[in-house]
Amino acid sequence: MKILDFGSLNLDHFYSVDHIVEPGETEDTLAIETLSGGKGLNQAVAIAKAGLKVQIAGCIGQDGEMLREVCRQYGVDDSLLRTVPGLTGNTVIQLDKNGQNSILLYGGANRAVDRAYVDEVLAQFGEGDYLVLQNEISELPYIIDEAYARGMKIVLNPSPFDDRLGACDMGKVTVFMVNEVEGEQLSGSEDPYRILDAMEEKYPKAHIVLTLGKRGSVYRYRGMTVPQEAFPVEAIDTTGAGDTFTGYFLAGFTAITGEVTKKAIKKVMERASRASAITCTRKGAALAIPTAAEVDASMR
Ligand code: ADP
Repeated sequence: MKILDFGSLNLDHFYSVDHIVEPGETEDTLAIETLSGGKGLNQAVAIAKAGLKVQIAGCIGQDGEMLREVCRQYGVDDSLLRTVPGLTGNTVIQLDKNGQNSILLYGGANRAVDRAYVDEVLAQFGEGDYLVLQNEISELPYIIDEAYARGMKIVLNPSPFDDRLGACDMGKVTVFMVNEVEGEQLSGSEDPYRILDAMEEKYPKAHIVLTLGKRGSVYRYRGMTVPQEAFPVEAIDTTGAGDTFTGYFLAGFTAITGEVTKKAIKKVMERASRASAITCTRKGAALAIPTAAEVDASMR
């Protein structure tokens, strides 16, 4: 079984400022830092740190070589990653002294994913391999259809939730990873158990993982419900919590052989919950995600 994460890679430019700039104003920046980002990259890093072999596919621009380095640093196989003309996807993030932020997103190379590239990548995978997707790249509906036709198991984190998802055949998804906001948008309900009921009715064959921030998470599959509390921590930055949960959930889930039992899922959820709680105690995304050894140590 192979794991492919086909998704976004970004350069996130953090500008520390006194206040978020007003229309027409020019403001001096106190500090600037560029970090790796993009849900595709963050989830691939989480999967690798959780101890699985993972390949990443996606597009970066000529300015994105640093992102290949990040992949290599964390053991994500970048051999399918494509460098295209133009700019890497990027964000400009203003962070003010009160911790408020405002973000400009430029899709860049993430929108350069085309069908010929998708075909080339998916030709390397087949029956039983896992495909991890988010909603930050072009050609998502095509990727889902083609991967499904090859017998791949599709894991979808429908984030950000927008109109483009309407073109995707979500009936082909094996595992949904959704947070409260996405769950509400998918189901029209705010109540976690109503979200799960509505999603299960729409997608009766799918495994559904709903994360609820510091209220924990819930798993649902064919009428089986497994709730998991969040681990209490002093959270300083929850960026990457959901991506960490995804990585650790998949590491546990793909290791289940045979029937998916309540007991097996409980163990998987508990570990994902511990890992994502650790992420919340650290700044940043990829950097903040704990390794399997760190999660083991926290369980002792
Ligand atoms: P996302 O980052 O996608 O919005 P959530 O906020 O739901 O996802 O967080 C994912 C998981 O991370 C939660 O289910 C929980 O296990 C953990 N988590 C999030 N925030 C906290 C927190 N403040 N304290 C402890 N764990 C947290």
